[in-house]
Amino acid sequence: MRRPAKHNRNRGLCSCPDAHVLLSLAALAFKLSARDRNRAPFVREHFLSQTLNQAGSAALAPSADWIDNAAQLGDWLAAVPAEAPLGIDTEFMRRNTFYPQLALLQLGAADRYALVDPTQFDAGPALSQALSRHLGPRIMHSPSEDFEALAPLLPRGLGHFFDTQLAAAMCGYGLGLSYRALVLQFCGMELDKGETRSDWLQRPLTASQQAYATLDVVYLEPIQQALQTRLESLGRTAWLEEDCQRMLHRAAQSGDEQPQREFRGAAEWSRENQALLRRILLWRDRTARELDTPRPWLFEDAMAMSMVSDRPQTDSELAAITRGRRALRGAQRRELMAQLQTPISAEDVDATASIPPAPQDAQKRAVAAMKREVDTLAQELDLPAGLLCPRKAIERIAITGEWPETFDGWRGPLLRERLAPLLP
Ligand SMILES: [Zn+2]
Repeated sequence: MRRPAKHNRNRGLCSCPDAHVLLSLAALAFKLSARDRNRAPFVREHFLSQTLNQAGSAALAPSADWIDNAAQLGDWLAAVPAEAPLGIDTEFMRRNTFYPQLALLQLGAADRYALVDPTQFDAGPALSQALSRHLGPRIMHSPSEDFEALAPLLPRGLGHFFDTQLAAAMCGYGLGLSYRALVLQFCGMELDKGETRSDWLQRPLTASQQAYATLDVVYLEPIQQALQTRLESLGRTAWLEEDCQRMLHRAAQSGDEQPQREFRGAAEWSRENQALLRRILLWRDRTARELDTPRPWLFEDAMAMSMVSDRPQTDSELAAITRGRRALRGAQRRELMAQLQTPISAEDVDATASIPPAPQDAQKRAVAAMKREVDTLAQELDLPAGLLCPRKAIERIAITGEWPETFDGWRGPLLRERLAPLLP
């Protein structure tokens, strides 16, 4: 069911308490109409009294439990029915660090919401314990970055999950839709963008931040239900499961072992220089993790290229190339210089996957023909072409003649037969 938004989009939701109240009422009305009609009188009274109490200050919509210790989290999770859908979101900060810093974990299940403060305690044990007995869907929206932020808490990942962004793309709603867009599409509600850039590590969080964070999990369940129904009718449930599993698998891998492959500009280089490029890129990755600093603070991609093609012979030459990189201090400069000066061995060359060149003549024509075929099929299936087979994958197929790993799953039977005759 669709409802018109009750507040003016141009009036900032977060500076406007009334908007929160209206929004929360509308949210409640939606949820009541969608499910659990029997409990409506209780919920409505409970909710209205709460809203009235908070009117005039920034009301939360709906209210969430603030959790800052392990026992409380354990109790909250123990009350989640095993089959209940569990909505999960995080807020994190990635400011001047390699790893995103988890600042808040939001949970929603069976009409209860929790804001968990992971800066106060280790939420990992209670969470993994609850997940091990939880059977319902774990719903997240485009969670690859959340996974990075959650990795210290859940080193073994979520097990399984339902990505509403990916599901929406598979249902023909478009690629990369935001949570706001899905809330509008399926719940007829307009959410404010107000707190996307706020400081999630500050304490206490403002009422507006808490409301925003709660709303991030409030609609996950109705969106998931709508998408799940649609996926089933399209026969694409297994597609989503497969791609979500792949996302989990990717999240579990720490770093790319062959980062040089992304450097097309070095495709014509000698194998030795490609191996040296790989060596300093791996050093940068390792060091960035150790120092918990962004990679470009050591050196940028373009600098990596010039360090190899125009190898510095002295410390001052290295300093000239990497001037202004604030994480590159004395110790790191010495290490980097050693990496650059140690000769490349035959093993180094063997361990280095060669950089794929840009497609040439016949390959270029094959890429164009395959792209057209992918576009046609994508249109037939009402899928984004980029989801079916991204251009990068098409180029790789044209250059290597090999099917990508994603063709082992649902994509293979759809695409192999249609693309095979177009190979160069
Ligand atoms: Zn969020």
